[in-house]
Amino acid sequence: MTEPRRIPLTLLPTPMHRLDRLSDDLGVDLWIKRDDLTGFAMGGNKGRKLEYLMAEAQTQRATTVVSCGSTQSNFIRQLGAACAMLGMRCAAAVCDLPFEPPFEPAGEGLPSQGGNVLLDEMLGVELHWSPNQTWTELYARADALADERQQRGETVYRIPIGGSSGLGAYAFYQAGQEALAQGPEFDAVVTATSSGSTQAGLHRAFSEAGVRLIGIAADPEPDLGEDIAAVSAKLDALWGQSPKFNAHDFEVDVTFAQPAYGVPSATGNAAIELMARAEGIFLDPIYSGKAFAGLLAMVQRGELEGRILFWHTGGTPSLFAHP
Ligand SMILES: *Cc1c(COP(=O)(O)O)cnc(C)c1O
Repeated sequence: MTEPRRIPLTLLPTPMHRLDRLSDDLGVDLWIKRDDLTGFAMGGNKGRKLEYLMAEAQTQRATTVVSCGSTQSNFIRQLGAACAMLGMRCAAAVCDLPFEPPFEPAGEGLPSQGGNVLLDEMLGVELHWSPNQTWTELYARADALADERQQRGETVYRIPIGGSSGLGAYAFYQAGQEALAQGPEFDAVVTATSSGSTQAGLHRAFSEAGVRLIGIAADPEPDLGEDIAAVSAKLDALWGQSPKFNAHDFEVDVTFAQPAYGVPSATGNAAIELMARAEGIFLDPIYSGKAFAGLLAMVQRGELEGRILFWHTGGTPSLFAHP
């Protein structure tokens, strides 16, 4: 493969440092990778993916980019900023709480105002909102939106949810290399996971280095490993390789996603407070807070020890979406 084209948007490498107080409290050697500080459009993991995705959109001379997500999507916010910068329109199909049957949205999700939505409006993103839908219905609505724009004569670049294409995963393969070059040797790395390209890309990098990678899911769906394997296969295809990993190769814990995708949890909120008070670092209620709650539980159960890297994927603007 020739190196994919990249438009620099983020400030790399993101910092990596030890969490001294939490390490003392928990009895492990705990480090953090600060992808909340990617810098672009308030940071978060999506900036890395957008560098490659937007380069491809530009190569294809796209006039409109179409994607989808939850109304408070961090991806749509960063995508909106990249589109505005590069002179492309950004249209997104959204709903507040996309869900996977048989699970249903339970409890209060984040509102469809404030937080990321405020930033989307500032950036001129077209949000096409609908009441709660299944993920499948949401993807279909994004397709219909893209078809409609194409019929109007626009050149449309379609991006799957969360930017999880082969290129999105490639960005995280690079991120894994960045971390390996930067830090000491880790026994395990823990990240939030959802649409799959963060875990797929990191998995490829860390498994090559013999480091265990654990994804703590933001969605309760038990077959998330299949989705991640599918994204991983797209990454392998970029290299002209057949799929290297199966669903069972990915360590995914879905138990911390409760009560539902997009709905904050009590353990996630407690983990956010612990991180803020011990280290002055803010996590978010939908992804990184739940992921850190998973890390804490695994340490307490003796399932994680030694030197651990917590990959902070960002998402802090959604803290301000709370009523
Ligand atoms: C999108 C997102 C994730 C999940 O990353 P995927 O690549 O979609 O699995 C994790 N944390 C935050 C803050 C996110 O916005």
